[in-house]
Amino acid sequence: MTGLTLRLDGDGWRTHLRDVAANTPGLVPVIKGNGYGFGLRRLAQEAAGLGVDTVAVGVAAEVETVREVFGGSIVVLHPWQAGDPLATELASDPRVITTVSTVEHLAMLAGSGPSPRVLLEVLTSMRRHGIVPERLAETARQLEALNHGGVKFEGWTIHLPLLEKGRYAEAQRLGRAALAAHPGTLWLSHLPSAEAMALSRELTGADGRPAPLRQRVGTRLWLGAADSRSTTATVLDVHPVRRGERIGYRQRLVPADGWVLVIAGGTSQGVGLEAPTSASSIRQRAVALATGSLEATGLALSPYTVAGRKRWFLEPPHMQSSMVFLPGKETPPAVGDEVPVELRLTTATVDHIVES
Ligand SMILES: *Cc1c(COP(=O)(O)O)cnc(C)c1O
Repeated sequence: MTGLTLRLDGDGWRTHLRDVAANTPGLVPVIKGNGYGFGLRRLAQEAAGLGVDTVAVGVAAEVETVREVFGGSIVVLHPWQAGDPLATELASDPRVITTVSTVEHLAMLAGSGPSPRVLLEVLTSMRRHGIVPERLAETARQLEALNHGGVKFEGWTIHLPLLEKGRYAEAQRLGRAALAAHPGTLWLSHLPSAEAMALSRELTGADGRPAPLRQRVGTRLWLGAADSRSTTATVLDVHPVRRGERIGYRQRLVPADGWVLVIAGGTSQGVGLEAPTSASSIRQRAVALATGSLEATGLALSPYTVAGRKRWFLEPPHMQSSMVFLPGKETPPAVGDEVPVELRLTTATVDHIVES
């Protein structure tokens, strides 16, 4: 087994998933993109195991994979667009909930098939998608006109920025405005669970009950409990090199006697995207030059750890492997060894997931 491997302590991870589920009333796991490094299918299975009734995907094209393994409702977060035939087809699936972010789209979608389930998105300070608060009353009138057969209203969706400052006040202001226009469930992202619950109590409806609440969570759910996983890469080749020799695509000078380590993982797996280029400023570069470190040569720190330390890329990562420098006084790893690699799992694609 060579390549990038994600090792998962299945019990530890699932204990964490259950903890989050228990502390997040109305949890809607978000399953999108590269599946937070685990893949869409695996996360859909885990969501089914958690017993939630609804999950959210990013875009319409992700519904199919998730629908095969998860039996509940699936929200498509990306708002419906008039020119998207797949999104329109999916809107008539009784298990799919379509997000709508303009008043005009609401009317268009209502005419597109049998009673789509819709979430109406309110524009937040994110300024990504959504109906401006000034048009909420008009939207509600439209909804009431359509409700009888046109669409099935599932609630209001509010996608907040990650910043803490002003977050609760914004959720409160927009939530209140939306519920005043039309009662329904509030679907929130990025508000801590305690705050979301406080908001739901604060926005108690005319019936005296807290506003119904759904909480979408991705990163905090899937990528919490960092100690339940580790990522490694296979050493594919090791070559001795001398200072002043040239190596690689770019035939760069080797900075000192040592070893070239060719290690699995490259740009196609997301390696290098998270590796900060050190000495990016002129000042940093000057300091590095003065201290005689490798930074002065313009090398970048790699995400690979060999013998306890992060090592330098000799040149930018290749498509599926990377060339890393190890000073000559150190003992190189053997071909086939696994070394730790730091991966940002929202941008990385591993080759193997091994569960223990
Ligand atoms: C991606 C997304 C989420 C999940 O975000 P995380 O930061 O991964 O929890 C929640 N809501 C919306 C609308 C999203 O697009």
